[in-house]
Formats: sequence, C-alpha cells, structure tokens
Amino acid sequence: MARYRDAKCRLCRREGTKLFLKGDRCFRDTCAVEKRNFPPGQHGHSRRPPRTAGYGVQLREKQKVKRIYRVLEKQFANYFAKADKMKGVTGENLLMMLERRLDNVVHRLGMAPSRDQARQLVTHGHIQVNGKKVDIVSAPVSVGDTISLVERMRKNQQVLDSVATISGRGGVPAWLTLDADALKGTVVALPKREDIQMPIDEQLIVELYSK
Ligand code: SF4
Repeated sequence: MARYRDAKCRLCRREGTKLFLKGDRCFRDTCAVEKRNFPPGQHGHSRRPPRTAGYGVQLREKQKVKRIYRVLEKQFANYFAKADKMKGVTGENLLMMLERRLDNVVHRLGMAPSRDQARQLVTHGHIQVNGKKVDIVSAPVSVGDTISLVERMRKNQQVLDSVATISGRGGVPAWLTLDADALKGTVVALPKREDIQMPIDEQLIVELYSK
C-alpha cells in the first residue's frame, strides 16, 4: 500500500504550520515548527515569503489537508469528486468524509497519538468496528458504530498511555464518545465543521479543483 515516507516535520515546515503528525511531540517545544519555522532545505531561509492568493495558495492548502489526513493524490481527488456530488457545501463535505475515515477515528478517540500510528493499528488487524475486525484504513464510520481494540491489544501499554494523554491533544471530539476503561468508542453523531480545529480553508481546495 502506498503511503507517505517523507520526514514528517519537514512536511509541517514546508506548509509553515503544525500538521500534528508526531503525536505528543507536536505539543512540546521540541516541535520543529516551533524551533525552525522556515521551509526545509538548503535555501529554506532565503525563500520568498509565501504568496497570499492564487493558484499557489490553493495548491498548498490541498497539500496540507492531504498530509494531515495521510491521503495520497488520487484518493484525495476521489474524495473531492464524491464531496462535489453530495448535497451541501462541497468543502465541508470533503472534510467530513476525511474525518469519518477509520484511521482518523481511532486517532481522534485517543487510541493512537498520531494518524500514522492509528493507521498501523488498523492495518495490523487490531481494530474492531461493531465487534468485527476491520483492517481498511479508509472505511467510513457511521452513527451508532462502536470502535474497539481486539482483546490482545487492550493491555498494550502504548495504547493505554495514548488514551491517558488524549486531553493533552485536544480531547475526544463531540461527535465521538470514549469509554476509557473498556477502550471502546462510539460514533454518536456525524462530524461537523466546528469539530475540526485545524487551520484549514477548504474553500481554497474547492477553488483549485474548480479551475
Ligand atoms: Fe509537525 Fe509534529 Fe513535527 Fe511539530 S513535531 S513539526 S507538529 S510533525
């Protein structure tokens, strides 16, 4: 399965903002964006300031969202095509579809500190949806679904540590609930735009794909 292999902090520095790709480290002052907030590479220091409008800005916004949710180009374009056909606001539809991905939900429930680690839990067969193993990271969750860990992972120290520190990463969003003792999450509503706190301007992505 294709996936991102670039150094994660470089991606954040390229976008000039925190993408929260490394779990708890992103909330410490060792974060590379805090320490070196200029583009990576030999000429990072001397690059011109980023543009404030036009194609380049729209492109960067798309790249940023792709990187946050760890989705590759073709898959992202497919999400956009589906979002465009749905009723409602296309940009919001796009973000809601990304939020409902199983790897994102596992991360948002605190079972893994980053989306990459959540992805690994899913692909390794450690996650159950409604009591059945699901190893497809992009599987969308629906209202009423329960998300839990397979029996052998319920005492895993990394998972327990991650759940214990979820409040430091912003806590569980309103559309999910977590029973921390049973390590079981429930989807109680569909995500809303205000549930996504990341600095994203989805309208720029709509403008990019509308060209
Ligand atoms: Fe990005 Fe996290 Fe690295 Fe900071 S520590 S640059 S937020 S991946």
